[in-house]
Amino acid sequence: MDLFEHEARDLFEKHGVPVLRGRVVADPAEARSAAVALGGPVVVKAQVKTGGRGKAGGVRVVQTADDAEQAADDILGMDIKGHTVHRVLVTEASEIADEYYLSFLLDRAGRTFLAMASAEGGMDVEEVAAARPDALVRVPVDPLAGVDSAAVAAAFPAHVRDEVAGVVEKLWTVFVAEDCTLVEVNPLASTPAGIVALDGKITLDDNAAFRRTSSHDDCADGDPLERSARAKGLNYVKLDGDIGVIGNGAGLVMSTLDVVAAAAAESGARGPANFLDIGGGASAQVMVDGLTVVLGDPQVRSVFVNVFGGITACDAVAAGIVRALAILGSRAAKPLVVRLDGNNVTEGRRILAEAAHPLVTVVATMDDAAREAAKLAIAEV
Ligand code: GDP
Ligand code: MN
Repeated sequence: MDLFEHEARDLFEKHGVPVLRGRVVADPAEARSAAVALGGPVVVKAQVKTGGRGKAGGVRVVQTADDAEQAADDILGMDIKGHTVHRVLVTEASEIADEYYLSFLLDRAGRTFLAMASAEGGMDVEEVAAARPDALVRVPVDPLAGVDSAAVAAAFPAHVRDEVAGVVEKLWTVFVAEDCTLVEVNPLASTPAGIVALDGKITLDDNAAFRRTSSHDDCADGDPLERSARAKGLNYVKLDGDIGVIGNGAGLVMSTLDVVAAAAAESGARGPANFLDIGGGASAQVMVDGLTVVLGDPQVRSVFVNVFGGITACDAVAAGIVRALAILGSRAAKPLVVRLDGNNVTEGRRILAEAAHPLVTVVATMDDAAREAAKLAIAEV
């Protein structure tokens, strides 16, 4: 789970990483009082779980409390890359001499943890990393031995190295103690008051959720369909296309996305609208939940249900589909292409044939089913 900047800031503070004083607020009047309380110039920052807020106009440095109120008024409600701003963080402003970049992440490909550091941080660090990879220093981190802070700090100018090394140690403590898969500071700023983490991004490891006592604000942001799927316990990721995809098993669904993308490219459809793995069970209720989420996506024009019967046999899944369509009634108003194979496939297909639902087309192979779903997605209705 990704955290908001203000939540990352609070975790930094808890572990002794230098941050600026600040307060998160939800309306312009509160932003004014926060600015008064902080005194002097402040920064008003959109709280959305996406980067590039600065470039989108979501970060404003202002001199007075009046201007802080105005900036909050401008930023609240703003849309930044599809995320609506519901709150702003008001922090003290600081003079910035240099902007650095520092992060810890889980390097899945390298099967280790990695520290990344660059003396050229700030808003264009991605371009710097792409244009001049050597400007980004990568130091593997052994989870048992901890971070070699001197090796990481070597990426920075000599006069700040010692101070940065201390911050590197503390950020690694955050990474470990809070069960993170990402801790990113950009910029790590050199200011008259010393090195400060001006912006923080943290991703918590969901596998460690059971041992976390603090709760984080997961519902105020994110895609509404993903939220409703999460509430139903479904493994759903929203994508951009027009063909809904439902399958049992993550591997099958991944390959279904590839086949659907290829069929869409051939026919002029847009491609998969989502990833949805309904898992091994695939009961009628899970099918109802899955179809409800997928059909609730206004971009979806057809749905491909791709099931390989294993422990849960095809007849049970077919019965689930039939019952789900009966429960959904007129809410199921988009064409469904169903491909069943595996355990008890003959009985499964017989159940679907007998139900003869007007929206359901049964197709024998995955490729043909993807083509049919793509054709239906671009058909006039
Ligand atoms: P992002 O664009 O979403 O990464 O948002 P950041 O929090 O990193 O802010 C973007 C930029 O705003 C930073 O790179 C700084 O240049 C600037 N900024 C943020 N806080 C301050 C501050 O306290 N003083 C000044 N002068 N600039 C700031
Ligand atoms: Mn930033």
